[in-house]
Amino acid sequence: MRNIAVDGERLWRDLMEIGRIGETAKGGCHRLALSAEDGHARDLFCRWMREAGCTITVDGIGNIFARREGRDPARPPVMVGSHLDTVPLGGKFDGIAGVLAAVEVVRTLNDRAIRTEAPIEVVVWTNEEGSRFSPFTMGSQVFAGQQSLDAMLARRELLDPERGATVGEALDRIGYRGTAPVGGRKPGCYFELHIEQGPEMARDDAEIGIVTGSFEARYFVATVEGEQAHVGPTPMAVRHDALVAASRLILEIDRIGRAHGVDGRANAPHLELHPNVRGVIPGRVMVSCDVRHRDHATLGRMHGDLVMAAQMVERVHGVTVTLEQYGEFGPVAFDPGMVALLRDTAASLGYRHRDILTVAGHDAVPLNTICPAGMIFCASRAGGISHNEREWSEPADVAAGANVLAQAVLARAGVVPD
Ligand SMILES: [Zn+2]
Repeated sequence: MRNIAVDGERLWRDLMEIGRIGETAKGGCHRLALSAEDGHARDLFCRWMREAGCTITVDGIGNIFARREGRDPARPPVMVGSHLDTVPLGGKFDGIAGVLAAVEVVRTLNDRAIRTEAPIEVVVWTNEEGSRFSPFTMGSQVFAGQQSLDAMLARRELLDPERGATVGEALDRIGYRGTAPVGGRKPGCYFELHIEQGPEMARDDAEIGIVTGSFEARYFVATVEGEQAHVGPTPMAVRHDALVAASRLILEIDRIGRAHGVDGRANAPHLELHPNVRGVIPGRVMVSCDVRHRDHATLGRMHGDLVMAAQMVERVHGVTVTLEQYGEFGPVAFDPGMVALLRDTAASLGYRHRDILTVAGHDAVPLNTICPAGMIFCASRAGGISHNEREWSEPADVAAGANVLAQAVLARAGVVPD
């Protein structure tokens, strides 16, 4: 194995530099997909990659590809990347560490004048988080043919569905509606480094997580229809308060998550209230919710429990609850060859590593449907907290991941002999 250790200081310096775009008072990052800040971070990425000799292409959903040509341009590229957008008041590492590690891989190959047989493409996927526009992993899903481009371009901002911009308008505003066709080509393979975002690796003192697959998750919108009325004169006994009913449903969802062991997850993180003003009992509430588990049969029971909870709320509160599934992912098993390569690479570099499943969605999940995909986690500190300004990894954590990434990318791209 060649020594192609990355420059961990350069990687950290640029990770911190891009983190200043949208930096928050508490040291986190607030950089919603296709916002002005996202545009500035994209500009900086493109500048860095041009300086590294890459050719930049932007496709119709705003995914950016920075290509380092291979000896054989006809070979499908080895793709490596992640995302630059964050949740509101998020951290500087989620997604960004994966992009910057990929940037560092290219720079390291340049420093050592290593040519590869296959091209390498560093990719930034559009709207991974799904906070501003739904769904999450939008850019990689369109690339993989799982969503239509036109439908995604027409999606409006979740936080302002009436007056907010569409994805297409937001892309135009920041100058990232590209002309390249979206997808329709198969990468040779796809690598993604990501922070763990959980406490498992720290428990085992692992430096590298080899992501073998994912939990299974199902996503719903529960629409609770009650009766809008005046908060004053309406006696308690005749109310059909959709928010009170939704509150009961949310408590039930939390209970479902807790009732299925350490691998159970059930969430209700987003509400839409109508009319959401003082003086009026809410007539309609939409609750976004999801259930997750590593075991398929258990997930099916959790889904069943959610249906029963909705029926109970209907009976008790005299409302109607409509449960509509709007998404799912997993269970994913990443390509066994990629998993083995990453595991062997981590071992031969002497890193303490362990296998791990991802509970969160990532761009590698849609990519895995069109090419061999593999993911590594680098360690998350502060108990693994993420989607929070306190999200943290140490410079050595990110460098360790980037070193594994560099070796694995090189193994798949093939070195041209000197
Ligand atoms: Zn992420």
